[in-house]
Amino acid sequence: MTDLPLAGSRPAISEIDLPTLAAWLDARGEPAYRADQVVAGAHRPDVTAFADLTDLPAPLRTALAEAFRFSTIADSHVIRADGGQTAKAVHELHDGQRIESVLMRYATRGASAERTTICISSQAGCAVNCPFCATGQAGFERQLTPGEIVDQVLLWHRPPWQALGDAKAGHYNIVFMGMGEPLNNADRVFESVRLLNDPARLGIGARHITVSTSGVVPGIDRMVDELPQVNLAISLHAATDALRDELVPINRKWPIHEVIAAGRRFSGRTRRRVSLEYVMIDGLNDTDEQARGLVELARGWRTHVNLIPLNPTPGSRWSGTPAAGIALFVAILRAGGITVTVRDTRGREIEAACGQLHAQLSGRSLREARETRETRGAASVVPA
Ligand code: SAH
Ligand code: SF4
Repeated sequence: MTDLPLAGSRPAISEIDLPTLAAWLDARGEPAYRADQVVAGAHRPDVTAFADLTDLPAPLRTALAEAFRFSTIADSHVIRADGGQTAKAVHELHDGQRIESVLMRYATRGASAERTTICISSQAGCAVNCPFCATGQAGFERQLTPGEIVDQVLLWHRPPWQALGDAKAGHYNIVFMGMGEPLNNADRVFESVRLLNDPARLGIGARHITVSTSGVVPGIDRMVDELPQVNLAISLHAATDALRDELVPINRKWPIHEVIAAGRRFSGRTRRRVSLEYVMIDGLNDTDEQARGLVELARGWRTHVNLIPLNPTPGSRWSGTPAAGIALFVAILRAGGITVTVRDTRGREIEAACGQLHAQLSGRSLREARETRETRGAASVVPA
């Protein structure tokens, strides 16, 4: 690689902007339409390398492979669960960092189409340090680039998953609920959303994308201005500051009333419903008092409470609230006029909660992990 007008390591095709690619192609004497052809080709579900772009001249394919990375992801380890309806990937990036994404498919009753959710990471690790979260326990490693975010989605759009068909069918969501705090990496996350939206790339509508935040208030305000069509989820997890200071330590910087005020600004300006996420921890935040506090916080503006039974991390001192306790909590919220759903705990058998598979694989190569799984026969494993 010699003639690339960019410093540093080879840029990935998933994040290169069109003018830069066009200039590179122009310098090689290629016609202007080639830039669109390359970008569209790289996002086709059947294409997994520049060599697959057979509508391009062979020397150009070779030159592209030398100048650009086809993917920011070096290797992926994929585990299936729930009869193949849930699949989780640990992606190894080019510097050895590992991140995770999850594909969940749900049959919709009475309809032929499935609902598909792809959960992606925004950072390698996380600095917020929530004590119930495996990612939080592992600490912060680094920010992900827009391409590293988009490439997680692209993996699920290629065989054998081919989730883009689900996107076209409409029942399709991308959620920033993997590793990391997306609004602590707002510039790159916002750029990744614009790349996902781009009709020349994946063309995923902003209304199918949700950013989940632990409560980074300035980031929520930026979403109002920069991504008003994207859905907002706020991880509340407690109705009093004393408890939230412990469960979501960023609360010491932006306490509950500031986070709720930011959520209200978002919903007021966008006319959209904000999802309030609430992980249910047995005997801790599932009391009647917390439920009544949550009613007060969620009432009077466009909200939806989503209860998530805790998926305990290895060695956790906490366990999830049992079904009967969740039912009581739901009853208090409903009596208070709050819309509430309980999230199903998909992928438990593959440790799908935030950062857990990554923690389990720590210190081992993805190849080793694949072999161990295969001999154990715990779940079917497909190299991605
Ligand atoms: N950092 C962002 C987004 C990633 S975490 C945030 O906190 O919102 C996505 C969701 O998974 C959050 O609601 C988080 O609280 C939840 N979560 C993390 N660890 C969990 C666990 N062990 N069990 C259940 N939910 C968990
Ligand atoms: Fe970070 Fe979200 Fe995990 Fe908290 S729950 S440590 S904010 S990834």
